[in-house]
Amino acid sequence: MKMTPLPLLSARLGRPLQDLRISVTDRCNFRCTYCMPREQFGRDHAFLPRDEVLRFEEILRLAQMFVHLGVRKIRLTGGEPLLRRDIECLVGLLSTIPQVELALTTNGSLLEKKAQALHDAGLKRLTVSLDALDEPTFRRMTDSGSSVAQVLAGLEAAQAAGFQGLKVNAVIRKGVNEHALVDLARHFRGSGVVPRFIEYMDVGSTNGWQPNDVLGVARMRETLGHHWALEPVPADHPGEVAQRYRYRDGQGEVGFIASVTEPFCRHCTRMRLSTDGHLYTCLFATDGLDLKAPLRAGEDDRALSARVMRLWQERTDRYSEWRTLEGPVPARHKIEMSYIGG
Ligand code: SAM
Ligand code: SF4
Ligand code: SF4
Repeated sequence: MKMTPLPLLSARLGRPLQDLRISVTDRCNFRCTYCMPREQFGRDHAFLPRDEVLRFEEILRLAQMFVHLGVRKIRLTGGEPLLRRDIECLVGLLSTIPQVELALTTNGSLLEKKAQALHDAGLKRLTVSLDALDEPTFRRMTDSGSSVAQVLAGLEAAQAAGFQGLKVNAVIRKGVNEHALVDLARHFRGSGVVPRFIEYMDVGSTNGWQPNDVLGVARMRETLGHHWALEPVPADHPGEVAQRYRYRDGQGEVGFIASVTEPFCRHCTRMRLSTDGHLYTCLFATDGLDLKAPLRAGEDDRALSARVMRLWQERTDRYSEWRTLEGPVPARHKIEMSYIGG
């Protein structure tokens, strides 16, 4: 297949395709209230049957095609990606693709066991989600049988395995885990691990999100500013979603992701590939483009690429801008984040 010489741009807003998120499973061992609330994802919830889930060789083929279209960063996510059996084998396959930075986001519960194998397989970047340092709040946020201690042990194992530049994602919900902001910042100051504080978003259709549940990034920055002097750091690549700040005393960095209060749709460079091979140009999409059917029907790379290029070029989505700047958005059935890939 020929290399595309120029970045693939969307006709509207001229957004270049640079990032691909791949959801490798729609299953998870947590029931975070903001993502997979237990009332909706209970025992009788129908997860995807195995033959609907993209196989490793199918993911590899699609990933290679995306890299030819300009993608330079691939993030494995889910659901909980470490639940996917032999995930390190997929990492091994994807890490052979030249020019691409491979990353993974995990809830950390299985990381202690998997960190070394993931690193050995060629994974470079790792983000671990952790919403609080005290067990009661952690349980309240994640509704899981796991513990803070387990996630911290996973982070330690990742450092011991050789991962550098580790990031910790924390969703901050007003009135639920606001105190975690300072706790997490204090805990990771000087450790080399960068905490990133995320505004609670209205992803999916099950978490009962209300605008009042959102603690805006401006308030988060102000709160941390009462404890430590912070200064902004320029983005290190175009399309970076986190606003970066560093401690003036040199004790490291924190990040803020203001997807609700300061939307960044016009710089959105991401596509998402769902567990069953559907493609989405927006986290808040209501439907996607099926790539699995043509892939399994034997379509060649050129024809598959043409589908992807058309989808990207025609994308007009800018949900967060719409919701925040022009809202309210009419109710619609949005795809769940665990399936589409967070
Ligand atoms: N299970 C893995 C994990 O939790 O890290 C990967 C998938 S999860 C969907 C990816 C990221 O999305 C996590 O950092 C999680 O906190 C974030 N997330 C999920 N629901 C969210 C919401 N409603 N608002 C903001 N971030 C959310
Ligand atoms: Fe699972 Fe991650 Fe969603 Fe929590 S945020 S329920 S860990 S997929
Ligand atoms: Fe991109 Fe959609 Fe998020 Fe806007 S709302 S930044 S278009 S994923």
